Amino acid sequence: MAQLPNSLEARDSAVQLHSYADARRQEEMGALVIDKGEGIYVEDINGKRYIEGMAGLWSVAVGFGEKRLVDAATRQMEKLPYYHTFTYKTHGPSIELAEKLIEMAPVPMSKVYFTNSGSEANDTAVKLIWYRSNALGQPERKKIISRVRGYHGVTVASASLTGLPNNHRSFDLPLPQVLHTTCPHYRTMKKDGESEADFARRCAQDLEDLILAEGPETIAAFFAEPVMGAGGVVVPPIGYWEAVQPILKKYGILFVADEVICGFGRTGNMFGTETYNLQPDIMTLSKALSSSYQPISALLINDDVYQPIADESHKIGVLGHGYTGSGHPVAAAVALENLKIIEERDLVGHVKAIAPVFQKRLAGLADNPLVIETRGIGLIGAAELHHEALAATPGALGAKTNAVFHENGLISRNMLDAMAFCPPLIITEAEVNKMFDIAEASLKSIRESL
Ligand code: PLP
Repeated sequence: MAQLPNSLEARDSAVQLHSYADARRQEEMGALVIDKGEGIYVEDINGKRYIEGMAGLWSVAVGFGEKRLVDAATRQMEKLPYYHTFTYKTHGPSIELAEKLIEMAPVPMSKVYFTNSGSEANDTAVKLIWYRSNALGQPERKKIISRVRGYHGVTVASASLTGLPNNHRSFDLPLPQVLHTTCPHYRTMKKDGESEADFARRCAQDLEDLILAEGPETIAAFFAEPVMGAGGVVVPPIGYWEAVQPILKKYGILFVADEVICGFGRTGNMFGTETYNLQPDIMTLSKALSSSYQPISALLINDDVYQPIADESHKIGVLGHGYTGSGHPVAAAVALENLKIIEERDLVGHVKAIAPVFQKRLAGLADNPLVIETRGIGLIGAAELHHEALAATPGALGAKTNAVFHENGLISRNMLDAMAFCPPLIITEAEVNKMFDIAEASLKSIRESL
């Protein structure tokens, strides 16, 4: 992309430092300037349309241009554009949304705590877990286990939970209290001749070995996404959760299900927790909670988590935590309307109905020899490419494929060489086919060009 002087691209590069970009490359190339969106499509400033195959950042469940969300925001802006939830104050939208989330929770939950991003939700979970350990008189119980390739965000604590090298490198992370256990990706992590079920058991054994090596009384919590997203869409191997959960129970370790991507329909149930029959003590939610029309996230905590925290805040006199935007009324009003849409349109049923088509087309990408593996569930999936095909470093083929997808009108995201697909939940069967037609044709042209 050439940057014309005074173009939006050039102005952007002059003033913005971007996330997940190489800043020098950005200065040279500029960014794609997206201007508007409708349904599963977004359009750039030159009028080119793209299928948003990632729903933005795995998040725009109800699609772009949903007028009901605009109206919900406007109504709330006019009535009470801002108020907070500190110091014994509250407001209607935060109350209603908290009630709704407790009602929707797939396991009994006691309280909701509002935050503004997935990172903040996980960061807050870490802090509340530490606070609780102190409340219980177990100050040594502070270590947290997450997984290699897990993604939990980018704040100091949540980036530590994230198990990806680029989120640690040169940031002096992870924090020493955070430990990472085996990534449950069968193809890359299995031993010779190991069955998927045996591999799942070994992952659980690795977790138990780590707990025992560190001392079970020092481990406070285990954080995991039901299905890993940004780490490359890693669907757990058969038997994984059945083997992992009893170990957490055995040692009294809290289970935090990071539902930031899986929550609100993505895996074909309202929560990934239902898809995998999980029993989390804490759930973190964001993204599809408001379809990202407003920044909002939430933690659901069960009573076993809440009660010691309540006692400790009583002892100290205050829970010394909170964000200016926690439970923001406009964000809460938008989230409530968004959840109404998800329920009224039965988007979970819709995901269930079209997931077989999505997964069949995704699997079909493996007909191209460039694709080494496809994996997915519901309306999320990835096609992993043979990076050696480009005789280059990992990630180069993924970046090239991303560029060709763009050229052909499809936005995907390459996590190294895994191409992710996570479209708005409203996508129709015809649109699923269109998306994979573009992916298939693009991969074919890349293969022919190598
Ligand atoms: N947890 C998961 C599973 C995520 O996928 C993400 C973001 O992609 C986060 C947490 C962090 O959310 P945010 O980017 O809103 O801080």
